[in-house]
Amino acid sequence: MSKNIREGAVGMTKAKMHSPHIETMSREEMRDLQGKRLNAQVTYVYRNSSFYRRKFESVGLEPDDIRTIDDISKIPFTTKDELRADQENNPPYGSNVCIPLEDVVWLPTTSGTTGRPVILPRGQADIETWNDLNVRSYIALGMTNQDVFQHVITYHWIYGGLALFMGAQKLGAAVINAGTGNTEKQLWSLTNMGVTALHATPTYLTYLGHEIQRRGLQDQLSLRIVFGGGEIGCAGGPAKERLRDLYPGVQTIADVGGVTDVGTMFWAECIAEAGAHLWEDSIAFELLNPDTLSTAEPGATGELVVSDLVSKTAPLLRYRIMDLTKLNYEPCECGRTLARLDPGILGRSDDMLVIRGANVHPSAIDDIVKQFRELNGEYQIIVDRPEDLDRLTVRAETSPEQANALNGPGGLPSRLEAAFKVAFGSRANIELVDPGTLPRFTYKASRLVDKRRGDTEESLWEKAEAQK
Ligand SMILES: [Zn+2]
Repeated sequence: MSKNIREGAVGMTKAKMHSPHIETMSREEMRDLQGKRLNAQVTYVYRNSSFYRRKFESVGLEPDDIRTIDDISKIPFTTKDELRADQENNPPYGSNVCIPLEDVVWLPTTSGTTGRPVILPRGQADIETWNDLNVRSYIALGMTNQDVFQHVITYHWIYGGLALFMGAQKLGAAVINAGTGNTEKQLWSLTNMGVTALHATPTYLTYLGHEIQRRGLQDQLSLRIVFGGGEIGCAGGPAKERLRDLYPGVQTIADVGGVTDVGTMFWAECIAEAGAHLWEDSIAFELLNPDTLSTAEPGATGELVVSDLVSKTAPLLRYRIMDLTKLNYEPCECGRTLARLDPGILGRSDDMLVIRGANVHPSAIDDIVKQFRELNGEYQIIVDRPEDLDRLTVRAETSPEQANALNGPGGLPSRLEAAFKVAFGSRANIELVDPGTLPRFTYKASRLVDKRRGDTEESLWEKAEAQK
């Protein structure tokens, strides 16, 4: 039934857009606009950021060398490690802040899960810019000022939660600043506050959805839109169907994302649910071959590199966000001409597994697990190297009602083995376990135990505990 509702919604003739001129311009017009904005941004940082002036001087680059968007490849890359080192060497905020301190009004930081947190100074003008872009994202996924929006994203320290909150207020939605955790209160709010739109990490959407089912609360929900970001798990058919099982009757299940080192939401799916649209007028996206860092072949998977064309406080150019994806440049049925993720982020390039010489993306394993209705969607990936040969084990929980269909030729393990063999070209061990055996995550899921680098299975339990 939910599928019909979705098709009905997509069958509309006019999609609502925040900036129709931008969102439907021809590829040529977009490239012109990007070239102009890039030239202005390069000139701006050359004058105002000693961080970028040094980088440009190190390769002999001057602002006038950047005339079209194709010239972007002349700009050196920026990495998070560089930002970290710059802030250590030029305390406290580093040498990339382009505005006077009295104009800085917000100091969010990165999470710091991969090292010293990076401080992200923000001025009021940038906050307004990103509020507008967040409104654009909300409108794309179908939110309006009629919606009651439960926003289940971390509010403290980081940039995203509060920025998305302000964007939703600007849209005119009634926003509930739920933040993360406290599942009892989240469920109370969903069933008592008239909530029509819900945003959380895909991991928490899944966790919450199972609680809704277990307690039989489905009929007490008024949800129309469910969307997730911050990790894989909302893009592509199998993931969406799983979420539709947990949130039956919801019209739109959308994937959104961005990187808070740079901005906030800079991609969002529209109600066609056909891959997130990229806000290319504000961020220039390049897809590069992760090995050579030159432009990826058309249709190939590549590493996404972003350049901020609009921020003025501490803009980042050619920033390596390490996300792997494919891009789709075909116009969408919603009318937007902006490029799209195809269908979403596959994983981070530093998370990609190399098994017996072949690349395996964590999202490809996620996809296969979610295609099997006999599994409940909880799984672990275990990689070890007995006898000098990589071994991939997928340990997955079964659905309770499937306990009988498991064994024998043509049983579930052999069908799973066959699916993995087709996807990766090499064998995966399949271990089926009872529902409830594996750790449950409530913020972002950790599923990988790579024993080749010293991971242990206990560490996943510790990570799950830390999210409670
Ligand atoms: Zn679209």
